[in-house]
Amino acid sequence: MNVRSQVSMVFHLDKCIGCHTCSIACKNIWTDRRGTEYMWWNNVETKPGTGYPTTWEDQSKYNGGWEKKGDEIQLKSQNKGDALFKIFHNPNQPTMDDYYEPWTYDYQNLFNAPEGSDQPTAKPISMVTGEYINIEAGPNWDDDLGGSPVYAANDPNLDALTPEQREQLFATERLVFFYFPRICNHCLNPACVAACPSGALYKRGEDGIVLIDQQRCRGWRACVAACPYKKTYFNWSTGKSEKCILCFPRLETGQAPACFHSCVGRIRYLGVLLYDADRIEEVAKLPDDQLVEGQRSLILDPFDPAVIAAARANGVHDSVIESAQKSPVYKFVKIWKMALPPHLEYRTLPMLFYVPPMSPVMANKENDIIDHNTTDFFHDIESSRVPIAYLARLLGCNQESKVRYALRKQKAVRWYRRAVTVGDISMETAQKMLAEADCSQQEAEAIYQLTSLCTFDDRFVIPPMHREEALEMMKDPNEHKASTGFGFVGAPQRGM
Ligand code: SF4
Ligand code: SF4
Repeated sequence: MNVRSQVSMVFHLDKCIGCHTCSIACKNIWTDRRGTEYMWWNNVETKPGTGYPTTWEDQSKYNGGWEKKGDEIQLKSQNKGDALFKIFHNPNQPTMDDYYEPWTYDYQNLFNAPEGSDQPTAKPISMVTGEYINIEAGPNWDDDLGGSPVYAANDPNLDALTPEQREQLFATERLVFFYFPRICNHCLNPACVAACPSGALYKRGEDGIVLIDQQRCRGWRACVAACPYKKTYFNWSTGKSEKCILCFPRLETGQAPACFHSCVGRIRYLGVLLYDADRIEEVAKLPDDQLVEGQRSLILDPFDPAVIAAARANGVHDSVIESAQKSPVYKFVKIWKMALPPHLEYRTLPMLFYVPPMSPVMANKENDIIDHNTTDFFHDIESSRVPIAYLARLLGCNQESKVRYALRKQKAVRWYRRAVTVGDISMETAQKMLAEADCSQQEAEAIYQLTSLCTFDDRFVIPPMHREEALEMMKDPNEHKASTGFGFVGAPQRGM
């Protein structure tokens, strides 16, 4: 057993209101620089929808992630034979059209327009050509037409649905969407790291954050092609690749990542997971239908004396072990089994997890009435507006049972709390539901507490970072705002 620790995050999708505050917080701190205009290390997508870059989940187009070949896995984007050639030309690289053409506005016109009978406007200007443009795409373009067939019909996850389910999803009276915030998943088997010809990408041993060494990066963009989540980006100004750094300078000074700190819906939970690094390869090679349980089995019980001893032997500090024992992420992922990784079939073993959203169910029931007396407690989940098949494609590696389990537990907790606070559901019914959802009353209270009544300190549980270098990072992060990556005192030039 090779015990390592990972700072990990859970997104409770039922709580996301799609305000994009997280994206703006990240943009203001990290990608408000030349060369990063189009970059959104944190973005929030509307699902069903095509996302950013558009249809990023369509690996027949982008060839990201790993594929299973017999007993082995290999990168889809390159192999030993063509890796050299592909650093000069890779047909699967996303283009600017796949992201969007960044723009600003002609604000001066608001101040300098000559007096007239009409209101001056700020027309959009391309940040690439400097010319006026018609905006035709943006980082969450689907949002304007949330859930509608115009864009959402191109969502690759809809492949999992039957034609009838698709039709149902887009029926006007059933129109539905939810939000899906995304950052780099700081994967256990990162395709970006494996693909880099310069060895510039690495996963930090102490907390699992995946970073790009800006000194080593040569801008080959193999990481951009290999990441199936399209969470590394190329900076045209410096000629280097960049990505989410999980705000490690903030973590090292005891502050939460910007996206986390600013989250209006308080949907994010940050905590430590202990995992067995010796079994990563074995799990990454499992058949699709065993991946969810396989990845869960990699996450170790921080109370197990054998795990604690192995962690200590590996130099994991006691404060990290204590944090892992209090980790909200551990509870959602491993104990309650309510949070699932996105697209595990890409086999990068993402270490960020999502609690699947409950759809609004009331209007789906005949006469818009919820039948509190039914014994078929979870019928509305089965006929939910967002089909379970869709959520399973997104979060469950096509295993509907995994998503169903998480949704049933959420619903049972809601009804239990309704029995406690409103009283129009009998406690006997609530108890039966909890039993069917594999949830004890004690667990239901704990889920309710962490979902609805949590404080910042309940959601943000990390140990103090034990690194000398952390002192360096005590400086104001804004001091480095204009540099590339964190820690440079001068911006590296292209070709450095
Ligand atoms: S999400 Fe992409 S960029 Fe992030 S670690 Fe995984 S493969 Fe690398
Ligand atoms: S700030 Fe929070 S609630 Fe708002 S879009 Fe981001 S994740 Fe969702």
